[in-house]
Amino acid sequence: MTTVKTEVKEVGLYINGEYVPSSDGETFEVTNPANQELIARVSEATEEDVDRACRAARDAFENGPWRKMPIEERAAKLRKMADIILERKEEIARNDAMDVGKPYEATLNGEVARAAHNIRFFADFAEKQGAEAYPMGEEYINYTRYEPVGVAALITPWNVPFMLTTWKLGPCLAAGNTAVIKPAENTPLSVSLLGEIAKEAGIPDGVVNVVQGKGSVVGNALTTHPEVDLVSFTGSTATAKHIMESGASTLKKVSFELGGKAANIIFEDADLEKAIPGSIRAAFFNSGQVCLAGSRILVQRSILDEFLEKFKQAAQAMKVGDPQEKGTDMGPLVSEDHYKKVTSYFEVAKQEGAQLISGGKRPELPEKLSEGFYLEPTIYVHEDPKARICQEEIFGPVVTIIPFDTEEEALEIANDTQYGLNGVVWTENLKRAHRISHGVRAGTIWVNCWFVRDLRAPFGGFKKSGIGREGGEHSMAFFTEAKNICIAL
Ligand code: NAD
Repeated sequence: MTTVKTEVKEVGLYINGEYVPSSDGETFEVTNPANQELIARVSEATEEDVDRACRAARDAFENGPWRKMPIEERAAKLRKMADIILERKEEIARNDAMDVGKPYEATLNGEVARAAHNIRFFADFAEKQGAEAYPMGEEYINYTRYEPVGVAALITPWNVPFMLTTWKLGPCLAAGNTAVIKPAENTPLSVSLLGEIAKEAGIPDGVVNVVQGKGSVVGNALTTHPEVDLVSFTGSTATAKHIMESGASTLKKVSFELGGKAANIIFEDADLEKAIPGSIRAAFFNSGQVCLAGSRILVQRSILDEFLEKFKQAAQAMKVGDPQEKGTDMGPLVSEDHYKKVTSYFEVAKQEGAQLISGGKRPELPEKLSEGFYLEPTIYVHEDPKARICQEEIFGPVVTIIPFDTEEEALEIANDTQYGLNGVVWTENLKRAHRISHGVRAGTIWVNCWFVRDLRAPFGGFKKSGIGREGGEHSMAFFTEAKNICIAL
């Protein structure tokens, strides 16, 4: 069975170089959040299927050519993979638009291009990477080798399925590991294509496997499997805690990229011409379903009225609608369950006494979208940074504006969270920019910008936002074992 391009797609598991149905023939259905139409029937992996995938990956690691291949050859195959991703970029973006509900245009030019770059970047990076040597006088010399770890489970969330998977797959494969990928159950389409893309690029069978199904079954089978050596996980903090426990008995190496509740701090000296569109993007990109979303907007009280007016106008100018259509800024939320979760915060906000500035309801949309999970960009103002809407990751197009008076107060509010993924600062004062950047306890600080990424830079979270870092040498360190060789001269 292959991934067939029909109205309703049939998606198989990709194990040891071929698409196969699940061992018990079970499938699950995937619907389009833009209109609730059925779009795919996906083979639901059993524990036995996960076992087959892990054993295939182990066999490819131990006995196949992949890890022993000269790095130039491995890198060439990865570059070919990047080329194929670009050749098939429309199809990949359509798939993400279909099951996630992401605007197609932005996905095509943003995330899919970045996905190809992820793979190419790590091919280049691994090829150029050197190693240390430590001479001990004239008697001995130590040198280091970076060897692949083994079989990696790559578990990814629904909000950025394809791009985030390639962000892990690139360094995993470049280092010579083999992979079993598990995308989120409601967004399986684009990631499923990675099997055939790897094959076409000449990557040996068994090196890339894709299993589909629920986290509690398929994810759990992967994170407890004795053949899995390391788990690279992006998702919620709650699931990460579970994975840490389930991987403990087999002592798996883990990398966690988790939730966030970033403070986006607007000082009175900020250039609002940049801060307003920047904050709109940080708040509502991908319908706010972004771990890095600037969902707490801290605004200095002296400019609060001006900021509110301009921010509200810009939010109301956003086009919410069909993600497949040109010009759409914001598509639907990913699913009915998620829609219910996000909208439940409207009640929380009311009870907490937050002031609704804009949104808080479904937009008026054409009949064909009447079943979709759409929401207007929603803005609250709340003075209490300890309120639930200021503390919990809502993961939707909902932001809370929290006024502050002094720099010290801004910093205190910014750090008053269990999360520490990122922070954003808007100011024209260079010294203040440095002070705040040093003071905010988070893995990435953007000053007068948001979501600008250099793939060499470390990316990850403080506190409950993660363990470890991805990016450049940080990813390579996770996916390799350092070996020291000491030679008597
Ligand atoms: P989630 O934790 O529910 O699911 C993520 C993945 O884990 C899915 O593939 C899911 O099937 C799997 N999973 C669920 N239970 C599992 C289990 N018991 N064992 C193994 N795997 C299991 O997260 P989500 O709702 O898909 O994604 C949203 C979350 O991801 C948000 O908290 C968001 O902030 C976070 N996120 C973080 C980053 C980052 O880079 N830090 C990026 C994107 C999303």
